Amino acid sequence: MYSTVVVGAGPAGSTAARFLSENGHDVILIDRKEVVGLPKQCAEGIFSACFPEFSTAIGDFITGSARYLQVVFPNLTSYRVRGDLYMLDRPSFDQHLLRVAERSGAEVVLGQKVESIDPESGEVRLKGGETIKAETVIGADGPASRVARSMGMRNRLVPAAQVEMTWPEDDAIYAYLDHDLRPFNSYSSWIFPKNDRGTANVGCFGTVPTLESFISKYKIEGEVLEKNGGAIPLGIAPRLQQGRAVLIGDAGGLTNPFTGGGLYPAARSARIAAEAIDRFLRGETNKIEYESRMRKDFVASDLHLKARDVLAGLSNDELCRLGTAMNGLIFPGLKFTASPWLIWRGIRHPGIMKPKYAPLLKLLFRYCLAGKVW
Ligand SMILES: Cc1cc2nc3c(=O)[nH]c(=O)nc-3n(C[C@H](O)[C@H](O)[C@H](O)COP(=O)(O)OP(=O)(O)OC[C@H]3O[C@@H](n4cnc5c(N)ncnc54)[C@H](O)[C@@H]3O)c2cc1C
Repeated sequence: MYSTVVVGAGPAGSTAARFLSENGHDVILIDRKEVVGLPKQCAEGIFSACFPEFSTAIGDFITGSARYLQVVFPNLTSYRVRGDLYMLDRPSFDQHLLRVAERSGAEVVLGQKVESIDPESGEVRLKGGETIKAETVIGADGPASRVARSMGMRNRLVPAAQVEMTWPEDDAIYAYLDHDLRPFNSYSSWIFPKNDRGTANVGCFGTVPTLESFISKYKIEGEVLEKNGGAIPLGIAPRLQQGRAVLIGDAGGLTNPFTGGGLYPAARSARIAAEAIDRFLRGETNKIEYESRMRKDFVASDLHLKARDVLAGLSNDELCRLGTAMNGLIFPGLKFTASPWLIWRGIRHPGIMKPKYAPLLKLLFRYCLAGKVW
């Protein structure tokens, strides 16, 4: 009998397995893939301020950095936010996190699919019929989580399509806001250059035809080297734990619905879950105190979804007006103290100060207080 079975060795699962193993628990980490991280399903961007949550040093898996996030409106107006960004090599990053978990003592089983779990008994059923028993189960098996299904839930998912194409040296990553590209999220599409590789991940929320429309409408040019994509949860799961089982990362729908970024929430929820399970296994609590803590964390706040709804509801006319109001602004940092006059110039503009934008402004204010966005 194991202390914990972790289902899924993505960033969330490997991080949780590592933290629990470091605390002396008997952990088994199972993934259906023979090689984790492949195929790539990520634009590979992460703000440096989010990185420490993984408690690992910056390594060979960085493929470039950018100094700005540039937000582009349909009339090609834009503003920039200064924020040190890393571009990952996601497959290497996932494999690195798995190695760290293994070195910490977790038993790793690859190429084994989990069919279902029993949250009350802690029994995990593998494809082929074998069962494993554990005192606790962590569901870290991504957006279409089997563990979540065993708990009676399915995540609401949005599709994302992406290509990696050749791209010149660049100092920014780009987020495009365009309602006509059917935004499922707060922004519709992105370009994330990877300077060390001379490529960029160019993608959108939506399917391949939407991506083709984006590329042709904005005249994005480059040689396509790889096509990929995936699904992104839109909104946190109604429950994050039941009996002996908890959901972390995409399995719990914890991706930021405003940005689509899920790496930071994966690490954050892994840490909170590992701490709660550690205390439970040591007998310090009589139930796993994960959900109550997680829901209080800003990562799980419904403000992200509310702000996403505001932006997704704006027509292209409104977006163009907003773009014109903000065109050319450069916010030197995410901290409010960075440049009060720039913020003042932005918020006093009549195009921006509208009651319906309140959740959006509130969210941006919270990001500034936290000093990071993800
Ligand atoms: C196109 C795209 C672009 C993105 N870009 C970014 C970005 O730039 N920055 C960012 O922060 N986030 C981004 N994300 C989101 C980010 O990739 C996810 O939030 C992140 O991967 C979540 O990590 P996870 O460990 O929870 O899940 P995953 O990374 O999905 O890992 C789940 C693991 O579980 C395994 N698994 C699944 N089912 C089973 C099963 N039944 N049995 C055993 N194993 C199983 C899988 O093989 C996988 O290894 C993007 C997502 C997409 C789709």
